Order: sequence, then structure tokens, then C-alpha cells
Amino acid sequence: HVVVVGSVNLDISVKVHRLPHPGETVLATSVHRTGGGKGANQAVAAARAGGTATSLIGRVGNDEEGRIMRSLLRHDRLDLRLTTLTDATSGLALVTVDDHAENSIVVAPGANASPVPLSHEDAQVVAQADVLLCQLETPPQLALDAAGHRRPGVPLLLNAAPAMPLPEALWNSIDMLIVNQHEATELTQDTTGTLDHRIAQLLQRTPTVLVTLGKQGSLLATRDQPWLHLPAPAVNAVDTTAAGDTFCGVLAAELANGVTTPNAVATANAAAALAVTRPGAQSSIPDYPEVTAAALG
Ligand code: ADP
Repeated sequence: HVVVVGSVNLDISVKVHRLPHPGETVLATSVHRTGGGKGANQAVAAARAGGTATSLIGRVGNDEEGRIMRSLLRHDRLDLRLTTLTDATSGLALVTVDDHAENSIVVAPGANASPVPLSHEDAQVVAQADVLLCQLETPPQLALDAAGHRRPGVPLLLNAAPAMPLPEALWNSIDMLIVNQHEATELTQDTTGTLDHRIAQLLQRTPTVLVTLGKQGSLLATRDQPWLHLPAPAVNAVDTTAAGDTFCGVLAAELANGVTTPNAVATANAAAALAVTRPGAQSSIPDYPEVTAAALG
């Protein structure tokens, strides 16, 4: 059983020939509304990977966007645990993309930023987790709160995205930190050293560090074993949106299924590589037969 505690956004994307200058109005050529938010994307990836139940704990506002997100997420085999907050708007990402695929994005976190602790029912769901997966589009305090409700021995996987300073207590609760190269730099505030040096610094705070390396796959680093570079299959990249989220969700599902960490990482690479061959976020996340085929290589 994977429990994801994280953000839920409605992504509203408009296509324009060119991005507007300040004060300027441009006309869009198309509008798309899709499910987004790292928490929701990762939960969808875990649910589609199969073999394990997946719960998503998150917050939305009492508005149209929140209702759209509920109905979009109902299509996946997810145990949806969305709390509707009356004093916040739903998380929104306003995405503008121009003819050169250049984008500008405004995120209104709304309900995702709520400081409200987990409800009693949500805490009970966390207590059923075999793997707990959190990100940082919701407050670090919420991840810490969730970590406090897991059973002994249940790993917390923290995808530190977007990167931000973490409370000491959260560092002490993380079993596996998942970051891309940019986030590794941000978290260590080390802009001059090598990636290996940054990983060594992160390993002083958490026992396992997994760095995603885009088309080069990922690097699994622990304190007491040789580090493992696991390559991603070569693919024709179309859109890397949700690659990192697919990686995290599939990894969590595989670990909950009892797969060893290196094998789980290999499957997560393969699934994320599939996601980059398709446009969109939640629409690009592969399903069970695809992940199974990818796992077999
Ligand atoms: P993020 O999307 O969070 O910046 P990465 O770019 O590191 O993270 O991608 C996450 C994972 O997605 C990688 O570890 C890899 O498995 C897969 N991936 C990303 N880009 C590619 C690519 N061009 N080809 C194959 N796999 C990719």
C-alpha cells in the first residue's frame, strides 16, 4: 500500500504564438485543462504501476477547480482522500506555452499550502502505508506530520521538489531522498562542487539519496554500498513534463511490492522514459501493462 501525501493542482494551459510582455494582451490558440500537482501525478503513477493499493491525501478548495480535480482523479484506481477546505482556493497552475515551446508558469498553491495538520482519518490511512511518499508542493510540516503516523519500519520517500530548506526533524525522518540535479544543488547550496560531492553532503543527513539524471537515468547512493548508476532506456523525448513524478510514483509502487531498490529504480527509469515520449502530465504516465513490460526490459 503506497500512501502519497501531496499537492493537487488543476493545470490550465494556453498556447500562444508568443508570450505576452508586461501589460500586453495576446490571444490564445487553444486551452487545455488537465490534472496536475506533484502529489496527484505521483499517486497516479503509483496506481497505474499496479500491484499495490495507492491512496492520495491532499487538499482542494470548495470550488469548480476542486470538483474538476476530483472527477479527473476518479478515473484512476486511486483511493482518493481529498479534503475540501472552505477558506482556500484549489491549487492552480496557469501555464502559457509559445510556438517555440518556451513557457511561463504561475502556480497558485491555494489549499495545497494549508498549514492544517492531517485529519484523524488521514492519519489512519498513513498508518496502513507500506511506503509513504511526499513532495514539497505542500508544507514540509505536513510531510513531517505524516511521517509521525507511519508504522515502524515504513520508509518515507521525500521528493524534495521544489527544493527548499527542510526542518531538522524532517531530515531525520527521511529514508530516501529523491532529487534531480538542480534540487541537489539547491539543497546543499553548493554551486561549485561536483555532483558526487553534493551527494556526499546529502548522505550525511539521510541514508539513501537518489538523483535523477534526465536521459542518463539515475544514481542510487547509500552510505555503506558502492553507488549505482542505473541508465534510462534511450527514447525519443517529446515532453519531459511529469518524468520526475512518474519516476517517484513507480519507484514507490515497486518498493511497496517488495522489489529490491536497484530493481525498483530500474523500473522507475523505464516508466519515466516512456512518459517523456508522450505529451502532457497525467496523460503521459504509463499504465500497468506498460510498466510491467518496461520492468522486463
Ligand atoms: P525532472 O523531470 O524532475 O527534472 P529528470 O529530468 O532527471 O527529472 O527525469 C526524471 C527521470 O525521467 C530520469 O531519471 C529518467 O529515468 C527519466 N527521463 C527524463 N528524461 C529522459 C530522457 N530524455 N530519456 C529517457 N529517460 C528520461
